[in-house]
Amino acid sequence: QAKRIGGNLTQHFMQAMARDYQQQVRLRNALQIALDRKDFEVYYQPIFNTANHTITGVESLVRWNLDGEFVSPGEFIKIAENTGQIIPLGEQVLDMVLADIRRYPQLQNIKVTVNVSAQQLQRYNFPKFLAERLAFHQVAARNLTLELTEGVFAGETMSTIAALQQLRDMGCHVAIDDFGTGFSSLSYLNRLPADIIKIDRVFTHGIADDPELFAVVQKIIELCLHLQKRVIVEGIEDEVQLNIFTQLGVERVQGFFFAHPMPIEQLLKRLVK
Ligand code: C2E
Ligand code: MG
Ligand code: MG
Ligand code: MG
Repeated sequence: QAKRIGGNLTQHFMQAMARDYQQQVRLRNALQIALDRKDFEVYYQPIFNTANHTITGVESLVRWNLDGEFVSPGEFIKIAENTGQIIPLGEQVLDMVLADIRRYPQLQNIKVTVNVSAQQLQRYNFPKFLAERLAFHQVAARNLTLELTEGVFAGETMSTIAALQQLRDMGCHVAIDDFGTGFSSLSYLNRLPADIIKIDRVFTHGIADDPELFAVVQKIIELCLHLQKRVIVEGIEDEVQLNIFTQLGVERVQGFFFAHPMPIEQLLKRLVK
């Protein structure tokens, strides 16, 4: 009996794996077509000052419209990283963002951030590539903030740190994205060549009704501010969360409570106000 159940389970598991694999292959092929056709768009989510609720920056987020429906980056970024497609995808996103900055002077007065995958940093000379694209679009490096997750420090740490330092020497700002979700060792925080720490939304989500989480987040923010890092809190969805983080001394927030990611036309309307 047990053996039969085990056999069935294995069979179900194998079928699920096969489905999963087929879905991945489908997405990979569709991604390749989308890359060739340049089917991607960039949305922008504003980042706000807690003191006066003005927009101080925007995060660029890639959007893929597949047959009239958006595929979530949560679904395809992982695959693009597995297949190496993240390199051309990252290049297309960067070019779209730099073209927007060049075209709309409103974007030149605020910080624009771009998500950069660890692979982009590890697989080739990203600082050199970026310098070329900045020159091509005639955009100043200080307009740009690069967001990297803690995952970049999993691999060749020394060369990664050198590359981050190079980016800062060029005049870009560097942000550590999703802080607290990776292999979070606070011990390296002071050694990171980063100007900004983005506290992940898992902390935001639980902070109002979890005193222990609150205590941890309070300490992390204290430490960041002590090390003179700017803190951005992600995923603010209500006023309670906003008030808690404001009281903890956070000056920059991002989240659905203020604004969802939006197309450039919509962002420009909000920037005039
Ligand atoms: P991320 O860089 O941490 O971006 C923030 C994500 O949180 C975005 O999801 C945004 O829509 C979502 N978000 C913002 N505020 C809230 C909120 O209040 N509540 C909730 N529940 N979510 C909120 P999105 O656009 O689906 O992107 C997911 C992830 O995909 C990004 O996380 C980033 O890691 C990756 N990604 C997106 N665009 C790019 C890109 O151009 N290049 C690379 N390498 N990765 C990207
Ligand atoms: Mg990000
Ligand atoms: Mg994030
Ligand atoms: Mg995230």
